[in-house]
Amino acid sequence: MNPHSPDPDPYPMNVHPARRAARGRRRGPGHAGRTVSVRNEVCIPVRDDARARFVTFDGLPDGAEHFAVRFEGVEPRDPPIVRMHSECITGDVFASRRCDCGDQLRHALDVLHAAGGFLLYLRQEGRGIGLVAKLDAYRLQDAGADTFAANRALDLPADARDYACGAQMLAALGVRRVRLMTNNPDKVAQLTAHGIEVVERVSAGTFPTHANRHYLEAKYRLTGHALDL
Ligand SMILES: [Zn+2]
Repeated sequence: MNPHSPDPDPYPMNVHPARRAARGRRRGPGHAGRTVSVRNEVCIPVRDDARARFVTFDGLPDGAEHFAVRFEGVEPRDPPIVRMHSECITGDVFASRRCDCGDQLRHALDVLHAAGGFLLYLRQEGRGIGLVAKLDAYRLQDAGADTFAANRALDLPADARDYACGAQMLAALGVRRVRLMTNNPDKVAQLTAHGIEVVERVSAGTFPTHANRHYLEAKYRLTGHALDL
């Protein structure tokens, strides 16, 4: 092997995002000597409030444009409340009723405005399978499959999300101990495994609607989410 040849790109764009995520997970945090650092922090007024600061990063191992939003809060808590939210364009932007992502995001923003802390917005749409595959899965769900069975039918992982980047973003922000806002036990386990101490789990809320009830019941039954259904 030529020692002068460049490292092969471990995340070529022709590989499905879920499989790229799995490669990153196998390599673990900080592989290839990369260090995640804060690139930029800029104030963006949201909800008539100027206390939200958007933070970008250099060196994220999967190359995705994950970002953090830092809230001062009127009554900040230490350790801070942290919400790791995985991108869901249909829920976050269009208020889809097929899932609870948009409601959970808005609930997190309410809490973070009051109590301060961080929102980590992770670009792993559709549990890491991407928007196109998510909409393919929706079509199968309309034929009767639950959210996890639909992914399996498409030969995609039921949940390809990876929180190593989230842990590295927190470390870059100087945050080692968190109150984690989540209903998902896998997030607590993954953050802990990556060296972030979760001192408390704060509920991310439960937002059932007529259209998302089957989705929430599948999350509760198959992944142990703490939901109040
Ligand atoms: Zn969603």
